[in-house]
Parts: sequence; structure tokens; C-alpha cells
Amino acid sequence: MGAKILMIEDEAGIILTVGDRLSAEGYEFESCPDGVAGEAIARNGNHDLIILDVMLPGKDGFAICGSLRANGIVKPILMLTARGQVSDRVAGLKLGADDYLGKPFDMTELLARIEALLRRAEASANAYDTGAEKADGDLVIDLKRGYISLKGSESPLSAQEIKLLDYFYRHADAIVSREELLNTVWGYDSDITTRTIDVHVARLRQKLGDVKDVPKYIHTIRGIGYKFTPPKG
Ligand code: CA
Repeated sequence: MGAKILMIEDEAGIILTVGDRLSAEGYEFESCPDGVAGEAIARNGNHDLIILDVMLPGKDGFAICGSLRANGIVKPILMLTARGQVSDRVAGLKLGADDYLGKPFDMTELLARIEALLRRAEASANAYDTGAEKADGDLVIDLKRGYISLKGSESPLSAQEIKLLDYFYRHADAIVSREELLNTVWGYDSDITTRTIDVHVARLRQKLGDVKDVPKYIHTIRGIGYKFTPPKG
């Protein structure tokens, strides 16, 4: 059985098109046209991913996203925003959405985003749930217990390092900018600078046994930020 996807969207045409295609691709598809009812389904259901429209009757997508995250729902959320609306994108990021797609969107693009999000969610879940078994040679990352073990020597992770690593796992193999980390891992209102991020990354690298000039896991993308390659289990 394929992954289970919930789409909260009020445009019947989009629901029909996306539902047909996702079902044809082997996904289990469920939809809800109302914000309030959709949030309830998202909270109580066992979906692997949520596609969330911004403009919805009942409750808008931003409010739903924020509320789901505040209630500890960590499943991937792909938001559908009006094309080119940067403010929408930023608002969604702040509220914990994982990715964005502008309307109207291309079906191939939607499928690619869904696949990428599901892959990252799986990598993140592995780090949490079977972290102790996810070893790369002498390295063990266990986000659930909050430690990294390198060659048998354990280093505890700070809450911020866990959040940072979790974000990296959720965006594995993708370039993540310093601003993005600042806004998501630290939060908008934080008065820290991007320099603080570099300090945290340096500390994480040390715990991972990563060498700055030839890193295996956290790569520096000059002028932008970082790219995380998860250890192979
Ligand atoms: Ca809508």
C-alpha cells in the first residue's frame, strides 16, 4: 500500500485532478474541502503527508499549519500558495510547513515534491525511532535519546542541536540557507545572527567527527548555507 495523503482544498477541480493522479500513482488519497473539518482529519488520521491550501472556508491554511505543529503533528505539510506570493511562502515557513507549491502547479512537480517530502520524513523518522541502529561505521545518531556516539564515545545533543539535526534530516540532500535555519530552527523573533548558526554547525560537526574542509555529512554551500547528507544506515 502506498503512502496516505490528505488534501485540504476547496476547489473541486483540483481535488479531482490531484486525486485521480495520486491514486493512479498508488497513493491512498483523501480530501476535505473545509478548513475546520480538514484540521480535525489531519489531527486524528494516520496520513503520511498533508497537502494544504491557503485559502479555505472555515479556517485558513496558515492557521491550520500552525495549529497542527503546535499540537505536535510533525508529518510533512506541502502548502499550496498563490503564485509569486513571497509573503505567503514566508508565512508558511514560519508556521512550520515543509514545502510550498504555487498555484497553478504542474502535476509532475507536485509528484516530485511529494516523493521528496516522504523520503525526508522517512529519514527523519529513522533517526528518531531506530537511531541506535542507524550507524555509519562508528557513528550513531539518536535524536530520540539526544546523543551522538562516535567510536563508542557519546556526546549529548542540546535541544537546539536536536532541532537543527531534525531539520537537516527533513531536508536531506537539499541546500538549506542560513536564513531558513534562522527562521525555522531558531524562530523569527530570535535576535541571534547567522553567525550563531555557524557556531552550532561547527559544534555538530565536531560531534559527528566531520572535518570542515572535507565533511561527509554537513557540507558548506558557500554564500548560502549548508547541505546535509545523512549517514547511511
Ligand atoms: Ca482555496
